Amino acid sequence: MPSRSPRGVVSEIFRSLQGEGIYVGEPQVFVRLAGCPLRCRYCDTPQHLRRNGRTAMRVAEVLRRVRRLDAKKLCRTVSVTGGEPLMQAEFLTALLPALRRAGRRTYLETSGVHPHLLRRVVRDCDVVAMDIKCPGDTGKPYWTEHREFLAVAGKKAFVKIVLTSKTTEAEVRKAVELVADARPRPPLVLQPVTPVRDRRHGGALRPPSPERLAAIFKYARRRLSDVRLVPQMHRLWGLP
Ligand code: SF4
Repeated sequence: MPSRSPRGVVSEIFRSLQGEGIYVGEPQVFVRLAGCPLRCRYCDTPQHLRRNGRTAMRVAEVLRRVRRLDAKKLCRTVSVTGGEPLMQAEFLTALLPALRRAGRRTYLETSGVHPHLLRRVVRDCDVVAMDIKCPGDTGKPYWTEHREFLAVAGKKAFVKIVLTSKTTEAEVRKAVELVADARPRPPLVLQPVTPVRDRRHGGALRPPSPERLAAIFKYARRRLSDVRLVPQMHRLWGLP
C-alpha cells in the first residue's frame, strides 16, 4: 500500500448483523465513516454527523481492523456506512477495491443524493443501499438527485424509504413513481421509523399507524413487483 494512500475519517468499525433492507440478518463488518451534510429528522446516528475530533485512518489500517474482527471471513460483506460515506469519495476509491481484493463484497449505505460522487466509486460497489429522502424529513426535495443516482447505481441498487406518521401521501406517491420509472426497477423497502426524537422539529417521531402502513404497502404493490416491509431489525435485536 503506498504511504500516500488517502486517509478516511472513520467513526467505528464493528461486526453485527445487517438490520435493514433486503440483506437483513446477514453477518457483516461495518465501517462507519464520519460526517454527513444532511440533517434528517429521523437520523439515528447524530453522533456521527461531524468529523471533528476523529482520527483519520489509512486503508491498510481499516483492512487490518476488518481482518482482526473477522479473521475467519464469516462475514462475506463489508458495509461501508455513515454518516454519508460518499462525502469521502476519494478515500472510497482506495478502500472499496482494497476490500474486494481482500475477498469481501462491498455494500455502500448512502442517502442517495450525490450521484456525481457515486459515479466515482460505483464500479467497486457490489450493493448500493440507497435511501429516498422525503422533503418533509430533510427540509428540501431530492427527487432529481435520486433519479440520477438510481440511473448510476443501476442493477446494484435497492431503495429504502423511512416512513413516519408525518410522511405525506404525495411523498409516498412520488417515491413509488421514482422507483417505478427506474430501469431496472430496484426492490423497494418500506421501513417504519423506530421511534426517535425529531431532530429537526423536536418532539417524538413515530411510525405510521398499522392501517396506514398497510395502505402504503398496498399502494406500492399495485405499481411495483418487489416491495418489502422491513423495520430496523438490529434495534429489535439490541445490536449496534
Ligand atoms: S443521511 Fe443518514 S446519516 Fe445523514 S442525517 Fe440523514 S439519516 Fe443521518
